[in-house]
Amino acid sequence: MKLKLLLFFITFSILKVSAQGLPCRTSEQNAIVYRNNPSALQEKKDFDVFSKKFALEQKTATSKTAAATYTIPVVFHVYGVTQSGSTVTYQKIVNHLEQLNNDFNGRSADYQTVEPFFQARRATLSIDFKLAKIDPNGGCTDGVVFHPAKNGYGNGGGYDAQIAADAWDNKKYMNIYIQNDLYNDGSLYNSGVAWYPNSAMTASNTARVVFNGAYLYDNSYSTEFAATLTHEFGHFLNLIHTFEGGCTGTDEVADTPAEDGNHTLGCTPGTNCSGAKVNFENYMGYNGAQGCYKMYTQGQVTRMLAALQHPARITLWQPQNLINTGVSTTGTGSSLVASTISFKESSVNDGSFDTSSIITLGGTKKFALTSGNMVAGTHYTHNFPAGITPIVTVNSNSQITLTLSGKATNHAATNNAAGGITFLSAAFVGGTTGLSCNSVFYDFKFASPYGIFYVNMADVVINATTSWEYFTIDKGDDPAFGGWRFAANALKIETYSKQLVCESGTRNISLIAPNVIVGATSNFTSPAAYPGQLDLRKSGYTVWDGKTGYVGFNYLLDGETCYGWFKVSVDANGDGYKILEYAYNTKPNAPVKTGSLDVVLATTEYELEPKSFTMYPNPASDVVEFSFNKLNLDKITLTIYTINGVVVDVVKKPTSYSVAHLAKGMYIVVATDGNFTETKKLVVK
Ligand SMILES: [Zn+2]
Repeated sequence: MKLKLLLFFITFSILKVSAQGLPCRTSEQNAIVYRNNPSALQEKKDFDVFSKKFALEQKTATSKTAAATYTIPVVFHVYGVTQSGSTVTYQKIVNHLEQLNNDFNGRSADYQTVEPFFQARRATLSIDFKLAKIDPNGGCTDGVVFHPAKNGYGNGGGYDAQIAADAWDNKKYMNIYIQNDLYNDGSLYNSGVAWYPNSAMTASNTARVVFNGAYLYDNSYSTEFAATLTHEFGHFLNLIHTFEGGCTGTDEVADTPAEDGNHTLGCTPGTNCSGAKVNFENYMGYNGAQGCYKMYTQGQVTRMLAALQHPARITLWQPQNLINTGVSTTGTGSSLVASTISFKESSVNDGSFDTSSIITLGGTKKFALTSGNMVAGTHYTHNFPAGITPIVTVNSNSQITLTLSGKATNHAATNNAAGGITFLSAAFVGGTTGLSCNSVFYDFKFASPYGIFYVNMADVVINATTSWEYFTIDKGDDPAFGGWRFAANALKIETYSKQLVCESGTRNISLIAPNVIVGATSNFTSPAAYPGQLDLRKSGYTVWDGKTGYVGFNYLLDGETCYGWFKVSVDANGDGYKILEYAYNTKPNAPVKTGSLDVVLATTEYELEPKSFTMYPNPASDVVEFSFNKLNLDKITLTIYTINGVVVDVVKKPTSYSVAHLAKGMYIVVATDGNFTETKKLVVK
């Protein structure tokens, strides 16, 4: 029931949309966490009392002691190196963090141009967020971990297990997740979200800041807008929006006037609903995002200092932790940096791995070899999973490539483990002296044996009484669905971005008979914007009335596309329906057959030769011949586009096509028979 309320809340919360980035949903997403964990809400309330007392003590202290400097080890998890067309690189993270540290410490130039009225009220926090140099296993790191593209970690629920699996110990590291689509809702314009100090989240390794890589300092259309990460770090240190609750709300800080709730001031001075001047340059408002984020107030800095005493934050900056995470050293020891620290079992699913990791030796140290392979026992030792042997190929005296041979003895998902390789003295010119670390640790990720799994679920019953019901399937990166009676005789299925098989050119969910393949060649249709709904029944689409059939769906499992079906029964009057059972295949890109109740089937039984078309010759200068496999030529239309998307020609029932009239260059050819679509490149020479 909680989850149901939660999704309902997300679905219908109204967003204030600004032109170049949607505002942060920290209040809403924290509220979701508190709703599901009342003791966390109590902790927050108690800590607000502590923070006020702390502020009072600071104020009445007769002698001010020198301000302490805090250091916080951070790790960035980057999901996809391209976000909204911009790249996310290690160097861009470094550059952004420098800007962010400047903001907190008052080193940014615009700190000097704060509106005169607020100059006496501004304050800085002496804090240094530093990329970790030692990982949780004691191995080398540069503090930035690259993962395959994934989204949704901005949600206050539904992704916790995946987040925790990728997290580094929350008591030791501040974890920042860089994703493009924060809520996995198709919007690429949400900038960031963060969670206040919360002991339960720290204990479960879900404490975090989530930020859109498109708004990193080097990527953002505005470097001032990039300071929204400074805003999110403010939340991480317990700061609340200065417009929280509107005219009658509070951010629990005394010297921040309520911001105009509509953020209509932008960077122009003005007053709020009480007639007080608005601190539109404050990092915790939204006005400043339009180009003038400049300051925190003294009250906010004091509240952050209190937050650093919170059980969920105090462990981060302890001296021993700074040593353990490698951020206390000022030296410039050489270090090893791996291009990836995660190995995923190959899709063959036999315990083997077919990817590699390039390890670069930074600083002044050099490897002893310049070519050939390093020798186990002489140059390195390892504790990789049983059955897996590293092959260390030397590319140069500063770079090696690590590949994996053999098959892991145990390779179910429950066997996921970290394994390290430690380089010995003989691997380096001059031994290990001058190295800040000499090990690299990897996450070995296995996939359980593939299979088609059948689930006789508790029926989801949708009718005039229960118009909406949220449910999840067993597997998937985002396993949520919703049954929805939009209005009388208007029935929909919510998919949260996943696709369903639909009738060609429509959003009408196909009624699929038993023993039909659902797979790559099915006519999958994307839903519209979040939560994403497709029509099961509506005026003009009544084929489901009184029928029981199958709905084909696809879903992502660890980033790979997989297929499944629901068995659905629609009432005779077309005003309600039931979802009765479902099945799914865990093998990436492999089909599933409707109605099959076998728990695990040999997936090869359903392997299909893909439908496709071929063009010959290509490149071409005269006539191109087309041939089609398993497609009805009478239904085929070819559309030829320029690489800029301009239609050049449309050809029906194509067998051959003259390119004589086309300028030399590349063209895009799209073939479709109404259900199946394939795109190929054609070069005219
Ligand atoms: Zn915010």
